[in-house]
Amino acid sequence: MSMTVKLRNGTEVPALGMGTWNMGDNAARRSEELESLRTGIELGLRVIDTAEMYGNGRSENVVGEAISGIRDKVFLVTKVLPSNGSRKGVAQACRNSLNRLKTDHIDLYLLHWRGAVPLAETIEAFEKLRDEGLIGSWGVSNFDVKDMQELDNTVGGDQCVTNQILYSLDHRGVEFDLLADDQRRNIATMAYSPIGQGGVLLRNEVLASIAQKHKTSLGGATPAQIALTWVLRQPDLIAIPKASSVKHLRENIAAREIKLSDEDLAALDQAFPPPKHHVSLEMI
Ligand code: NDP
Repeated sequence: MSMTVKLRNGTEVPALGMGTWNMGDNAARRSEELESLRTGIELGLRVIDTAEMYGNGRSENVVGEAISGIRDKVFLVTKVLPSNGSRKGVAQACRNSLNRLKTDHIDLYLLHWRGAVPLAETIEAFEKLRDEGLIGSWGVSNFDVKDMQELDNTVGGDQCVTNQILYSLDHRGVEFDLLADDQRRNIATMAYSPIGQGGVLLRNEVLASIAQKHKTSLGGATPAQIALTWVLRQPDLIAIPKASSVKHLRENIAAREIKLSDEDLAALDQAFPPPKHHVSLEMI
């Protein structure tokens, strides 16, 4: 498992980052969320992923508070809604995000998914923000094989550094083509919902039996750790699980200690078969 990923612009980031969807939605959990993010930063998880969409900016507000005073330790990723993908829309959305994040620059700015605005216009707006120093780089999210081909054929498309997509044991379709395509283009994949949003995946019997065979410095491994380790086995991939609690955060960090055996991988292939043909990119 690689511990870091080098983006095509030369920036090196840890392969394990932190998601923030739903953070800020529940006032009672806010201090726990802040503690989790701050602990993660202290322990070297530099990548924080958020979006203007999450809680209508509430997630960005939490992130802004978490990174206050330690901005330089963070590689900050946020996303613009496709409905704001126009020249003016991107510029305004970026300024709004910067205000909520209480910073003067975003490290990586993503188009959240394909919308009606022509790609060329959104790219031009991203490049302008980059010239102005408001963003360090840009990328896309939820782009399938055809969307990536279109990006290839669009002026400036070669500046895209990442494609953030759904990837977990129960969503393996991208293994057929998209993961390799992005790798060939030198575009890092960011895997979202890598532990199945903490849902049914974590109750899977095969995952549970593999977890029983492994240990980390925190004790016996958990199904969530196996699911995360499995995603992180891919090269050039950044996984961004969300942990609102420090307990989950520490478990996710410790998951990097686990080495899945060939036997484990075969059992997981049996339970979650890899794709045999192109599968349209799934989205949450
Ligand atoms: P995840 O797969 O990261 O799962 C998050 C859930 O798993 C939470 O309920 C969390 O609980 C729980 N969890 C975290 N760590 C553990 C653990 N070690 N053991 C058991 N449970 C655990 O789902 P997300 O959908 O949140 O995806 C991650 C991030 O990806 C998002 O937060 C967001 O930043 C991004 N994303 C991007 C999308 C896009 O369209 N580009 C779409 C969806 C997500 P708790 O919080 O209580 O600790």
